Amino acid sequence: MDINGTMLWYYNVCKREVWLMSRSIVPDQHDENVDIGRFIHERTYKRNNKEISFGNVKFDVIFKSKKQITIGETKKTSKYAEASKWQLMYYLNQLKDAGINAKGVLLYPEEKKRTEIELTDESQEKLQRMCLDIEKICALKRPPSVKKVPFCKKCAYRQYCYS
Ligand code: SF4
Repeated sequence: MDINGTMLWYYNVCKREVWLMSRSIVPDQHDENVDIGRFIHERTYKRNNKEISFGNVKFDVIFKSKKQITIGETKKTSKYAEASKWQLMYYLNQLKDAGINAKGVLLYPEEKKRTEIELTDESQEKLQRMCLDIEKICALKRPPSVKKVPFCKKCAYRQYCYS
């Protein structure tokens, strides 16, 4: 299956979730965290928000100046900043492969915070290793076992894992 930015996010939070996504096992759509995420996505940065599709990538926000393209990703919380960073790195890498050098910014509207993200040679190598590992996880016959992580409390798959 095609890897996408969301999988990079999950990979950095829970490997089991990567496998569940790869099998199109849909999380609980009525989970309050799914709803809040959607609400923020739809309502924030409306002025700039022209969601743009590029291959299998969708960007939340794009800020353009004459010299620089900056893509943005809106998040509810900076608690999973590391995972969000790699999601955005993945998008930057996709653009780079297409000859577009862009920068990224993670936006946390509820915290009034933003973090600049830049794709370096080192991060590009790390990203490639993560993508290879994601492929290996997706090829497993069974999901990785449940490992309690902080995200379990908020995860829309928690009924699936813990019942
Ligand atoms: S409930 Fe926890 S172990 Fe299960 S998929 Fe979600 S984060 Fe992973």
